Amino acid sequence: MELIILGSAAAIPVKERNLSSIALKYKDNIILFDCGEDLQRRFIEANLKFNKPLRILISHFHGDHIIGLPGLLFRFGLSERNAPLLIFGPRNLFLYLYVHRKILGLKAEYPINIIEIDHINNKLIEYEGLDSDLPVKETPIKDNIIFECKKYLLKYTLVEHSVATYGFSFIEKPRYGKFFPERAKELGIPESRIWKRLQHGEVINYNGREIDPLKECIIGPKRVGRKITYSGDTAPCDSLIDLGMDSDILIHEATFSKELDKNAKEKKHSTSIDAANIAKKMNAKQLILTHISSRYQEDAIKLLEDAKNIFPNTILAEDLLRIILK
Ligand SMILES: [Zn+2]
Ligand SMILES: [Zn+2]
Repeated sequence: MELIILGSAAAIPVKERNLSSIALKYKDNIILFDCGEDLQRRFIEANLKFNKPLRILISHFHGDHIIGLPGLLFRFGLSERNAPLLIFGPRNLFLYLYVHRKILGLKAEYPINIIEIDHINNKLIEYEGLDSDLPVKETPIKDNIIFECKKYLLKYTLVEHSVATYGFSFIEKPRYGKFFPERAKELGIPESRIWKRLQHGEVINYNGREIDPLKECIIGPKRVGRKITYSGDTAPCDSLIDLGMDSDILIHEATFSKELDKNAKEKKHSTSIDAANIAKKMNAKQLILTHISSRYQEDAIKLLEDAKNIFPNTILAEDLLRIILK
């Protein structure tokens, strides 16, 4: 599991920083938080493959978070993509892409589903492909879950920005405990398909004997899943703390330094001090500051130092920085 910063700038790209986008590589999947301009080039630089199952989470409709999306979809159209693509975001996400379909001829000859989050009516509105502008289904949202598969969940919450904006959490489900093959052999269970069932914690009946792999110490206790939370653009808010409680990593915007606290409040953004306070309240293990304004091109380290005084395990996002999560 690996996080790769593809873009860490706010509003205006600078030489070293592209606009907002962060990739999470999880097994065969890529989960993308936002799609800043020129994302497809960063895909190449980060060595990300164009034909992997992909889930894209769009936090809001400000250009610095979404303009890279059509470019990426055009790129997919030029390659032989056949892996599934799900895109989640605010209402009108489908319309945004449909306009590209109608005017620029954007085609999607690969599986693509666009899922709008309607936080007002607490439901998901799903479109399939780009040819029909009629949704294929609407689903009520339970416990803020917008996507679930065998291995993980994606959750959202409304945060506080000048337009409807969502923060997101990736939540890995608890993993099976460590498997001890020697112990299985000791109990007279040779290597076979039964081992797989034991590894999955299943109580089996073997030669008339009931065997609970956990009680018999064939497997260890379940391992807690990992959790990553992304703030989107936001002023400090409680809903994000609730969503991201106990995250392994909080990726939080830090558009301003503490000296410009007034600007942060007016524009519904955060200072690096705000981000550090949120990380502390959230009981996060690590904080990554991102969405760095071009005004800090020379001295972004200042943002980091301020945050570290409150939350020591903080790092500053740099484009193409890779963080491996054990
Ligand atoms: Zn932004
Ligand atoms: Zn914004």
